[in-house]
Amino acid sequence: MTDIEAYASQAKAWLEKTPIPENTGTEVSREFMAKLYDAGYSGISWPAEYGGQGLSTAEERVFQQAARGKALPVGVFGIGLGMCGPTLLSLGTEEQKKRYIRPLLRGEEIWCQLFSEPGAGSDIASLQTRAVRDEDGWVLSGQKVWTTVAQHADHGLIIARTDADVPKHKGITMFIVDMRAPGVTVRPLRDMTGIAHFNEVFFDDVRIAEDQVLGGVNNGWHAAITTLLHERMSIGMGSAAPDRPTSYKSIAARAQKRGLTEDPAVREKLVDLYIQERALELFNARLAQEVKAGVNPGSRGSVTKLLLAELTLDSAETAAEIFGEGVVAHSEDDELARYAVALAWAPGMALGGGTNEIVRNAIGERVLGLPREPQVDRDVPFRELKVGTQKKETGA
Ligand SMILES: Cc1cc2nc3c(=O)[nH]c(=O)nc-3n(C[C@H](O)[C@H](O)[C@H](O)COP(=O)(O)OP(=O)(O)OC[C@H]3O[C@@H](n4cnc5c(N)ncnc54)[C@H](O)[C@@H]3O)c2cc1C
Repeated sequence: MTDIEAYASQAKAWLEKTPIPENTGTEVSREFMAKLYDAGYSGISWPAEYGGQGLSTAEERVFQQAARGKALPVGVFGIGLGMCGPTLLSLGTEEQKKRYIRPLLRGEEIWCQLFSEPGAGSDIASLQTRAVRDEDGWVLSGQKVWTTVAQHADHGLIIARTDADVPKHKGITMFIVDMRAPGVTVRPLRDMTGIAHFNEVFFDDVRIAEDQVLGGVNNGWHAAITTLLHERMSIGMGSAAPDRPTSYKSIAARAQKRGLTEDPAVREKLVDLYIQERALELFNARLAQEVKAGVNPGSRGSVTKLLLAELTLDSAETAAEIFGEGVVAHSEDDELARYAVALAWAPGMALGGGTNEIVRNAIGERVLGLPREPQVDRDVPFRELKVGTQKKETGA
């Protein structure tokens, strides 16, 4: 048995014997994450000096494969593990990495990502949340929106305007913000599934210490791009395609049981779904190999997020088309109810982490080498721009 095979059977054995709680409340998730960490299965490929296991992405993939179909209750840590942690590892100071990585991996601290604002989504560089320096650090004020898991978060990565006299991309800084600090207000927002997955967050003169700047003052655009690339890879590669509620396997099995697969139109839809799922899986396997070999996929990592967003929508629509009016959230048939929730959730996948259009732009410009989108405001000081809700007279 090779080392990796031995690791795989160890991981499988642990997953078999460890009860997976069904209740996914935050406390249950924290406890489960601590168990996962103590058994050596959290932060598998993260550096050992900050609390990771120091193994390779090969072991990481092996564990993910072993955990397929198990629905581990760790979703609330997704933003921390997929985006904030990797950004801290890339840009953090030694003290920041020592302070934050281990509690994140052990489920002791939950993170959120505070980028989007009411007036700045795709054009995130137009953000208006401000951080002003004083003798004790920084004072933060403004509003963020669509902040996933902010209602549970201990910390957030936030980007704010720190210099309005330079062009919009150049006057932004990333900070680590304490979500329990005085002046932080979190209000839930309900999405189409009926659940409040995300929130709006208000910052009223929130104090941030100087050592909570991440990646350098006015270097926030670079820091944000670092987070977004991690985000797209982690969304696209994070959820194994065959585990989705509207997977090919689930829809095809149900269609077959009901004698619907004789219909050529249904067969065509199913084949199309199968091809998309396989293409995504193979593309992800290739990205994983590249990462293992030390190659940074850069914006090619965004392709996986685009593929998953399209697959999520297509497969939910396919389920609705094949099984028709039975696909409703209150159905007594659990599978149909899950299809209905997937259908309501699917459009969000084409928005979060960068919309499909924005991701296509990034792939066009940075992977395919197409000409850049015209940007007339690139060299204009932010203070002179009329963006979002910014009023000309108030500046930033
Ligand atoms: C499920 C979910 C979770 C999210 N979680 C978070 C989070 O945790 N933290 C966070 O900060 N944000 C989060 N977001 C917000 C997300 O990042 C934004 O919704 C996204 O960036 C789009 O911004 P917007 O909603 O303001 O849309 P807009 O930017 O206003 O876009 C509106 C439409 O215009 C199109 N468009 C805009 N610009 C262009 C262009 N240049 N070329 C072509 N088309 C264009 C867009 O594609 C879109 O169709 C989340 C969103 C969702 C759906």
